[in-house]
Amino acid sequence: MSHERFGLDTALLVVDVQNDFCPGGALAVAGGDAIIPVINAWIPRFATVLASRDWHPPDSVHFTSWPPHCVAGTVGAQFRAGLDTGRFLLILDKGTGDVDDGYSAFEATNENLGNWLRGRDIEQLYICGLATDYCVLRTVLDALRLGFGVTVVRDGIAAVEVNPGDGQRALEAMAAAGALVTGDSRTCCNICNRGQS
Ligand SMILES: [Zn+2]
Repeated sequence: MSHERFGLDTALLVVDVQNDFCPGGALAVAGGDAIIPVINAWIPRFATVLASRDWHPPDSVHFTSWPPHCVAGTVGAQFRAGLDTGRFLLILDKGTGDVDDGYSAFEATNENLGNWLRGRDIEQLYICGLATDYCVLRTVLDALRLGFGVTVVRDGIAAVEVNPGDGQRALEAMAAAGALVTGDSRTCCNICNRGQS
């Protein structure tokens, strides 16, 4: 079946699908690469597709909490092979300073994402990527706080799970803050889930 295409006021934001967050990477998320075909299938449905990436300096306060990962310019920071990057209209670099974590795409230092979206009359975001319990969570909460409508692509996210259940708790926190989650009766992807082509 063909999937519904979204209007010009709706964009897809792909969060941090980078080598270091995929199996074999410095901060690997279980199943981090399994979401790539799902994301690739969603991309053609949007007129505007954006991506964020962790883009850290070699030394960062961030690395007191995490093993070093996604250092700017390294292989680990590259988007995972197989991800369809050809339609990324804007790539948001975050965590670029040595004093910030840069979990949220709205903390990008090369672009003010909120202003960029408003300037294009984009009001709705579909958000997918890595990891559910950190960068996806913070990006979703920031988007809601700034007044954007948010739908989380449930099959297009994966969690770090430092503590078991973190991914589920993050989903619940996002829903409690006002995000929709695909597969809910309120979202079109209830249809997609029944008839995935
Ligand atoms: Zn990071």
